[in-house]
Amino acid sequence: MPGHAAATEAEDLAAWHSALRAQFPIVAGHPGLAYLDSAATAQKPQAVLDVVQEYLTTSNANAGRGTYPWANRTTSLIEDTGRRVKTFLGDPDPDTSAVHFVSGTTEGLRLVALDWLVHELRDGDEIILPFADHEANLSPWLEAVESLARQGTRVTVREMPYQASSGDYDTDRLAGLVTSRTRFVAVTHVHHVYGGDMNVHRIRRAVGPDAVICMDAAQSVGHLPVSMKALDVDFAVFSGHKALALPGTGAVWSRGVRGAPFAPRGWGGTPNTVGIASLHAALDWLDRAGVERIERWTVELASRLTDGLRTLPPYHVVGCQLSLAKGSSVQQRHGIVTFRHRDIDSADLGFILFSHGFMVRADSLCQGRAGENRSSVRVSLHAYNSRHEVDRLLEVLTELS
Ligand code: PMP
Repeated sequence: MPGHAAATEAEDLAAWHSALRAQFPIVAGHPGLAYLDSAATAQKPQAVLDVVQEYLTTSNANAGRGTYPWANRTTSLIEDTGRRVKTFLGDPDPDTSAVHFVSGTTEGLRLVALDWLVHELRDGDEIILPFADHEANLSPWLEAVESLARQGTRVTVREMPYQASSGDYDTDRLAGLVTSRTRFVAVTHVHHVYGGDMNVHRIRRAVGPDAVICMDAAQSVGHLPVSMKALDVDFAVFSGHKALALPGTGAVWSRGVRGAPFAPRGWGGTPNTVGIASLHAALDWLDRAGVERIERWTVELASRLTDGLRTLPPYHVVGCQLSLAKGSSVQQRHGIVTFRHRDIDSADLGFILFSHGFMVRADSLCQGRAGENRSSVRVSLHAYNSRHEVDRLLEVLTELS
């Protein structure tokens, strides 16, 4: 009986969730508060905190510098975590790809732009940039183009086209922009304001076999299965701290088959050893918890919230109005919902919501120049958020409507 099967699946998911939520000490320790700002940074499960404690109390040392066991263990930890990132990302070519640890997506994208792309582009080349995505995925590429222009190398920048209705990329118009000089395309896996899956798997077909594709995976790693094989991109950059690891962690994965290998120059200094240990633990935890289940859970919560907001006239959901989770074969909303109230200023709404225990982002949202510049309220979810939190939030928003 399909109805019965669906009810059992929903109950199983709920049971899985309550065991999982209990593993986050900061969440369990603050029952009156709801943390709804995971797109900014995520909370950490006990297993990650344990590994941090264990590393710092048993083998803390610098990497690649010593001949004693703690230093050797730290060096191995970094190498192991590089391999762990590759398996977590479904890397089809682990022998040719590389993982470089960074402090987060911002630093990672800047390194690719200023330490790799500037050496790849030639006079007359063209690149395509997402002007309505996060500023971190726009300004470094423009800086690279400006730096080349100062040396007399002219690179043409084209704007990635978007679909007005959903905020997704318009791949038909994108294909029309591509020429034999298109060398590089920057994309985002999940949009940090609209919450939509940007369907990066369709980009390769639109831009052809030769262009390098760099994907900002800040809002996808740890939230949904991310497969380099399926997406066919050349770079993927993410923030470990949004994927349950410590602040100051992140990685650049580079495939190494188009253009020169990504090998940042210069003296790297001491790596964030404990952060890298925490990233390994976070990826292990995510695999154990099941990223597919986390995706199903957060998509369900975001749909619940979007569908609830649509019944309340003063609220306007920014980007696509629909939950997108149900019946959409092309796009899905992940765990981010951004909205405004017709009469209440978003910053005021943020304060009001905190007085009811909800921690949301209420601000302008670091979007590139073609994006939203008015402030709004963003609710962003992770594995630990509950149906009860979303229902309580909807109750408060209803009272304010
Ligand atoms: N890209 C996207 C899509 C993001 O959401 C963010 C963080 N809000 C960043 C890049 C920057 O990440 P970080 O601050 O960790 O460098």
